Amino acid sequence: MPHLTISDLQKTYGDDIAVDQVSLSIERELFSVVGPSGAGKSTLLKCIAGLELPDSGTIRLDGEDITNDRPSERATATVFQDLALFPHMSVGENIAYGLKKQGWEPTAIDEQVEKLLDLVQMPTARERSVQTLSGGQRQRVALARSLAVEPAILLLDEPLSSLDANLRAKLREDIRRLQRQTDTTFIYVTHDQDVAMAISDRMAVMTAGSLEQVGTPESVYEEPTTPFAATFLGDNSTIEGTAATDDGESVGIRVGKTESPIRGVASGAPVTSGDQVRGFIKVEDIRVDAGAECANTVSGDVTEKRYGGGDCVLHVATEVGELRARVRDCSEYSVGAKVRLAWQPSSFRLFPAD
Ligand code: ADP
Repeated sequence: MPHLTISDLQKTYGDDIAVDQVSLSIERELFSVVGPSGAGKSTLLKCIAGLELPDSGTIRLDGEDITNDRPSERATATVFQDLALFPHMSVGENIAYGLKKQGWEPTAIDEQVEKLLDLVQMPTARERSVQTLSGGQRQRVALARSLAVEPAILLLDEPLSSLDANLRAKLREDIRRLQRQTDTTFIYVTHDQDVAMAISDRMAVMTAGSLEQVGTPESVYEEPTTPFAATFLGDNSTIEGTAATDDGESVGIRVGKTESPIRGVASGAPVTSGDQVRGFIKVEDIRVDAGAECANTVSGDVTEKRYGGGDCVLHVATEVGELRARVRDCSEYSVGAKVRLAWQPSSFRLFPAD
């Protein structure tokens, strides 16, 4: 039996469908929900926490229906972006807060606070006022406070978005480690695909209230099954054309007046000859001035180059539209240079154009 089972969950605000018939099973894992602002991620999380009640659908934890339980009745804890630590309490008092409310014995509280301070790697901070802590330390105390009550599920809503990039990178590793060490289910909501892909066992891509695709970060990134999933993750160029040939392995599309079709793979709904199609190719899958082994090749002129810290993205005007390709060294290419771009059909994902 899955740990958490969400079935046909629906939540509307007036005419606004925030969560639209969402069904999902989550095991003991670090599961992320990633999508743009307004996708319904927070609303989904609030329904799991009991902070919002859905219009319809069910939420089951270990088989038990918790859909309409109060927040305090369910074994969930939540960490928000604007973590509300109690400012006039010490670190230890903050961590102990939920335990006192649950009626733990003083000696058990004492042991649990020590255990959590160790877990978040702040063993000597117990007496410190939370007002003297850095942003990263505060977030660790917030994690410790939420984990202290030993929830079955820890819900995290954009917990790192107010931190700077270096701290975010450090804290996301802490979150990954805490999930493994506590063997608690973590559900992590974020618009930040890099965080979601770096730490998740599995993730869901969400937009307009619906889950577009659920899977491991690798599978969702490498094998998107919807145009939204294909374009939301990574940096993608788009080519539009008309499906022409299908050799069973790949589909050829004609783009404008190009001599030979560009080959790709149908990745969602089937594509048949004559269909208008839209294909997506990730920036790292296009090779620049490589050998002749790739099936798809086009020539073009570099119109822009963007240094990205360690690599460089070229914008290239071609007969099939603007394509973006990554190269190691920005200095090797100048704006106006002629380049040859090549890519494999397997990395060109085709969908029927809507
Ligand atoms: P996300 O977390 O992905 O940014 P939200 O769950 O916050 O998305 O919002 C989903 C949709 O529901 C949005 O259109 C938002 O405006 C709407 N919404 C969320 N909360 C409320 C609310 N309390 N009242 C009215 N509309 C809301």
